[in-house]
Amino acid sequence: MLTVLESESSDNVPGNDGFRDAILSSPVRFGGRFPRSPGDFSCGSPLPMTTTPMAGFGPVQVYFGEKNGKYPDGNQVVIRGSDTLAAFDTPLVANRIGEVLAPVDLVMLSHAHEDHMAGLHRLAHAQVYVHEHDADAARSWPGLAAHYGLSPASLPAMHDKIVTEFHYVPRPDAIAYPDGHVWELGGVRIHAVHLPGHTAGHCALLVEPGGILFIGDIDLSGFGPYYGDASSDLAAFRQSLARLAGIDANVWVTSHHRGVYTDRARFAAALRAYAAKLDERNQRLLDLLRAAPRSLEELVHERLIYPPEYQEIWVVDAERRTIGLHLDELLAQERIRQDETGRYVVRVAS
Ligand SMILES: [Zn+2]
Repeated sequence: MLTVLESESSDNVPGNDGFRDAILSSPVRFGGRFPRSPGDFSCGSPLPMTTTPMAGFGPVQVYFGEKNGKYPDGNQVVIRGSDTLAAFDTPLVANRIGEVLAPVDLVMLSHAHEDHMAGLHRLAHAQVYVHEHDADAARSWPGLAAHYGLSPASLPAMHDKIVTEFHYVPRPDAIAYPDGHVWELGGVRIHAVHLPGHTAGHCALLVEPGGILFIGDIDLSGFGPYYGDASSDLAAFRQSLARLAGIDANVWVTSHHRGVYTDRARFAAALRAYAAKLDERNQRLLDLLRAAPRSLEELVHERLIYPPEYQEIWVVDAERRTIGLHLDELLAQERIRQDETGRYVVRVAS
């Protein structure tokens, strides 16, 4: 679920983002834009041709979903070792690159959400890995429902939606991996880096050699971070953004929208702008509460993240959770307090 809304204007400024450097209209083989010499990682057979835009970085190919992977689509990452073919997540675009995905042996999920599992129904033969904190969500619908934390009345409609729109199937066979797990693909290694907050088990996946870092739903979008599910955590998200800034990489790939960064300075600037959204949201809440004390439900009604006219099955639950996390943070910082009616009030010094 997720960062559905996005400012078109902010993301379509030519030259504004690194991904524009890397999106190519036809398949590209290894080399070219790759910042290190990657060697030959092919499995001995040529890449299947596809009309889906893609970019190549050593052993990694990125297939871009519609609108550069904007939700509900995403960007498909495929990693070719000398003896194993792996995929990071399976967004909707996975269903349009059948020849590329069909021989995949391993799928490493960055986390469990419907838009990252939309091609798993095609890959019954593949081993699916997911971080141990998201494993229940990948393995069963009750697990995914608990992970979302939706109101019980919303669950049947949500199930119908993800089956219809995302080809949802649970993967009871999903294998749990811990932080720091390493996969060997033959001349290529993948390291799991636990970066929770979006979900409890959200991870980045680092491909070596090459330093290609898939950062999942830390998507650097203009919308900002999403942490509206039951397993989301604002404090963990802040820590993950700080940890991400310190990871040594050459290429950064997002699940959605921003696509690919090949320039560290541009990536760092985008990460700072993305992280700044957290404090901007605190400030917006403080401004609302300064105007008048409000209860949680009154704030949910007014909305912090999504426009009031935006209607989705999950949006009110996501607003409630997101606002609640910010209120908890502001309470802990003693910037707000609750009055005798339970409404939140700005402390004078804040
Ligand atoms: Zn997600």
